[in-house]
Formats: sequence, structure tokens, C-alpha cells
Amino acid sequence: MAVQTTKPFALAGAAMRVDSSAIRDLLHVIDRPDVISLAGGLPAAETFPAAVLADAFTDILAGDPGALQYSTTEGFLPLREWVAERHGVDVEQVLVTHGSQQALDLVARALIEPGATVALADPGYVGAIQALRLTGARLAPVPSDADGLDVDALAGRLHRGERPAVVYVVANFDNPTGATLSLERRAALAGLADRYGFVIVEDDPYGELRWAGTAVAPIASFGDRVVTLATVSKIVCPGLRIGFAIAPRPLASALVLLKQAVDLHTSTLSQRAVHRVVTAPGFLDAQLDRLRPLYRDRCAALVHALHNGLGDRFEFSAPDGGMFVWGRFPEGIDTQELLPAALDQGMAYVPGQAFSVDGDHRDAMRLSFVTATPAQLAEGVRRLAAALPPRR
Ligand code: PMP
Repeated sequence: MAVQTTKPFALAGAAMRVDSSAIRDLLHVIDRPDVISLAGGLPAAETFPAAVLADAFTDILAGDPGALQYSTTEGFLPLREWVAERHGVDVEQVLVTHGSQQALDLVARALIEPGATVALADPGYVGAIQALRLTGARLAPVPSDADGLDVDALAGRLHRGERPAVVYVVANFDNPTGATLSLERRAALAGLADRYGFVIVEDDPYGELRWAGTAVAPIASFGDRVVTLATVSKIVCPGLRIGFAIAPRPLASALVLLKQAVDLHTSTLSQRAVHRVVTAPGFLDAQLDRLRPLYRDRCAALVHALHNGLGDRFEFSAPDGGMFVWGRFPEGIDTQELLPAALDQGMAYVPGQAFSVDGDHRDAMRLSFVTATPAQLAEGVRRLAAALPPRR
């Protein structure tokens, strides 16, 4: 028999502060076989190393019952050591988390009081907007351009008295803009953190997906008021949910205590399997050698189709890595209003407003190029062009 509820559930503040991600909602709507979706934020599934992982799981389970046991909150030591070596930090600074999304949640809980200010690029990563809002923070959107977060604009605000506790930034191939923060801006941002006492959260899921140009030194190399969020989601697979927080020591200890309260520890088995594959000789190099040209070629196909199909109606810049192209319609087409017509034509994108802290970017959209083939990308853009209103 169904239980009768007499009173409505009184939701706590945190549950009411978090809006559903417009993207996750959209993914339900567009899950139609006839729709070419450039809306997702998912990596290309054909690159997931399923066979290598299957062997790893089998070996681990055959050899060690400890792989199914509870384990330490900090994470599997050999996996932490691998991360520490790659990032040039002490192993005590590395916490294994349930995806980098959890790392962000823990860092936000550790550093942000309700009502505190958090600065982030606008447009920004939806998962960060959600996680940061949960803390009751006041989000202070900072404009961004082709070189990423406008650090001068942030400096102006700091100069005028704004005091963020945290500045969140995706410095490499940003989601949604694809922009990479310039070296000068990285150094300047680290200097501002020292001067004004905020913590920089440097979220870097896409840095390894660079197929052109040279890597830019991480913000963490310019100062020590930086927490790095890392993940294997975009280079191995996201479903195992393995990410990392790399933090200055006192903060790392606080993150461990918070994680203890949240979920005790990250999946023992997932950690061991990921450790096994990423440390297998040659695996990661081969995996990246496969991902980078695949994404490069798909990006090139999208860029070509956009130039051909939309011409000067759509303004965008082509990234040197990552998963996304961000662009806008200078004539002011509202991309939220355009979406039903695009779906009717059989293509999907994410309207720019979904990434906005306060409802801006109505004339923009994010296009993901990694899960569609070059032919699908070309056809997707053809359908988008067919959905556009006549030029004004
Ligand atoms: N940060 C950014 C900028 C992302 O785009 C994503 C994934 N969409 C994440 C964090 C979350 O990644 P993970 O799977 O490691 O939780």
C-alpha cells in the first residue's frame, strides 16, 4: 500500500538553491535517433579502453580480495603517487575523489561560507555554477574573451573592494568557450590571489586534449594559493568516476575530513583499475595519440561546416584542443527560441544562456564536436542553417 504523505516535504536551503542543469534536461529531450546532437559534453565512447579495463578488473579481482574492501579516504596510494609525480607535488597533497565534480564540491564546502563571493568566468561551466550555488555563495560573473577569464576586469573589481573567497577557472579549453587562459593572465591571476588572499580553483579536465600549439604552464606553477582539480574522465572514461583534488597541505587535510563525512572513500575497485591502466607501459601515450587526432579532425570538420554553412552569421574561434566550439550570432538570434526549430530540423546544441550566471549569452551556443563523425557534423550544421530565420 502506498504511504500517504500529509505534509509537503520542507526542502532545506541547499536543495532549493540548486537548479537543474539545463543541459541534463536537454539531453532527455534530444535522445532521439534522428537528431544529430552537438549538445552533449560527453567524450567519444569509441575511445573508451574497454578491453584493457576488462583485463585490469579480472586481474585485480583474481589477485586481491582487498580490491573489494573499504579503503582509506585519501585514496589508493599508488594512484595518488602517480598523480603526485605528474603534477610535481607531494603525495599528501593528492586526494582521490568521485570525479573532479566531487573535488569541486569538497573544495567549495571547505572554503566558502554562505554569502561569500565566488568569482568565475561568464559564461561558465554549469556543474561549477551548480556546486558553487549549493554553498550559498554569491556568484560574481567575470567576462571572458578569446584568452579566457578577463583578469584585468577581475583586478578592477578587487581594486574597488570586492573580496572573493574563491576564483574558479577552467584554464585550458574552457567549457563552454573552448578558450585557453593566456600565460600572462595566469601569472597575473596568481599574483592577485597572493595580494588579495583568495584561492584559485584551477579545474583542468581538458588540458591533455591539445592537438596544436604548445601547452601553457598551469596557474599552480605561479603561486601556492591554487587548488587543482584533475580527472581521468576525458582521457580514459568518465563512468568510473575517478578525479583528484591537488591542494596545499592544510587544505588537503580538510578535504579528507569532509570526504570522510560525505562518502568515506572513492570506489576501491575503480581506483585500482584506473591505476592499472594509466600506469601500463605505453597506454596513456597511445590513448592520447588516438584521442587528439580524432578530436582534431572532428573539430576541423565542424569549423569547416560552420564557415561554409553559416558564414559571417556566426562568430566563433577554433580551439587547439578540448571538446567545444562556442559562438554567437552577431545579428542577435535568440538561441533558446531557435532550439525547437533546430530540433525540428534534426540537430541539437546547447543555448548560451544555459552557461550564464545571470541569464546572459542569449545570442550564443555551445557545440560539441567529439561524439559526431565529420559527416554528421557537416549535416548537423546544414540542419542548423536550415533552422535559422532569414537574415535581418
Ligand atoms: N569540470 C569541467 C570544466 C567539466 O567540463 C567537467 C565535465 N563535464 C567536469 C569538471 C567534471 O568531470 P568529472 O567527470 O571528473 O567529474
